Amino acid sequence: MTDAKPTPTTTPPVAASAHTRRVVVFCGAASTVPPVYRRAAAAFGDAVARRGWGVVYGGHHDGLMGAVADAARAAGGAVTGVLPDELVGKEVPPAGIELLRVPDMHTRKATMVALADVVVALPGGYGTLDELFEQLTWRAIGKHTKPIGVLDVVDDGVSYWAPLVSFVEHAWRVGFVRDSGRALLHVDDDVARLLDTLGVR
Ligand code: AMP
Repeated sequence: MTDAKPTPTTTPPVAASAHTRRVVVFCGAASTVPPVYRRAAAAFGDAVARRGWGVVYGGHHDGLMGAVADAARAAGGAVTGVLPDELVGKEVPPAGIELLRVPDMHTRKATMVALADVVVALPGGYGTLDELFEQLTWRAIGKHTKPIGVLDVVDDGVSYWAPLVSFVEHAWRVGFVRDSGRALLHVDDDVARLLDTLGVR
């Protein structure tokens, strides 16, 4: 089990509070997606903050990442961004967030998850898929017991995550994904219901 809070390898400007319950949010950094995705990310950040939970995420100001952080901040929530040294200078984190510096991308992913109690992926690309599947794998092998959810977004009748759900079902039918692994993935397009399912209350 690696549920313990991490010791950042560089001194953060502000220490992450040990008491806040947090959702780690993985989501797209791209800003070229239809507005419905940004609205969904903002609704998610807002709902998490209104439930008294903090958000930990990649510290980026753009795309869905920025939308989640801005909405959570606007609703009075605590937002922690985890920024690797290799991205410092390339990225400007949003104002008003708590920032943790870590040496590299791998430390960053481990730190983000260690700081959180619940894992959620919103729509995103390779980075989001990497982060989601890493956490499904960690959970499947017993490295932690954090609930894992996926917020779906339906744009003009088209679900973003339906192809992923179909693929996981396929992998389960063939036998590469176990029953227990299949049961780990909670996908919902309703923010409140997803948060309820994951225990973010
Ligand atoms: P993607 O889904 O490919 O847009 O990647 C977004 C995810 O990967 C986020 O959850 C971040 O943790 C990480 N990530 C990818 N690109 C960046 C970036 N430019 N700045 C910060 N985080 C990023």
